[in-house]
Amino acid sequence: MSYKLENKPADTRNYNDRPGGRKPKGILLHHWGTDGQSHDNVVAYLRRYRPANPTSAHEVISAGRVSKLVPLLKRAWHARSANNDWIGLENRPEMSDGDWATLVERCADIERETGRSMRYGKHNDVVNTACPGRYASRIGELVNAVNANLAGAGTPVLSVYLVTAVWASGNSGLTTG
Ligand SMILES: [Zn+2]
Repeated sequence: MSYKLENKPADTRNYNDRPGGRKPKGILLHHWGTDGQSHDNVVAYLRRYRPANPTSAHEVISAGRVSKLVPLLKRAWHARSANNDWIGLENRPEMSDGDWATLVERCADIERETGRSMRYGKHNDVVNTACPGRYASRIGELVNAVNANLAGAGTPVLSVYLVTAVWASGNSGLTTG
């Protein structure tokens, strides 16, 4: 991998178990909000126990860096009812070429690690929000780039990897709530 993977475990009160031991079925894109915020500050915020606003995400990603906060098999709190089945990735809102490349690589590695073909969605499929900002229009491109990464590494391109290229609101299969 060409990114640095670092373990930054979140406070265990910021996440819980997936119901019935479910395995994640998809990757939900987020951005962390405002341009100019640092990766490290976002990681520190999401790790800290905040009883009044106990949100979390599985990983925080920016160019060349992936911080792991919540184990993928656990249920992080980033998208209401979608938390049960989805992995939440927080991305740098500026979306530089490097930010994008690391996201693509990390998504491919998550598919390798879990042995599962992921579906791809975005936070605003679930709730009315500006999140994931600049990433919102690039879901189809992300799917293609992840498939290319998996193929390039010698992994057979199974049809199961070829998920819906356009994951528009309303047909995502995500439930709101
Ligand atoms: Zn979000």
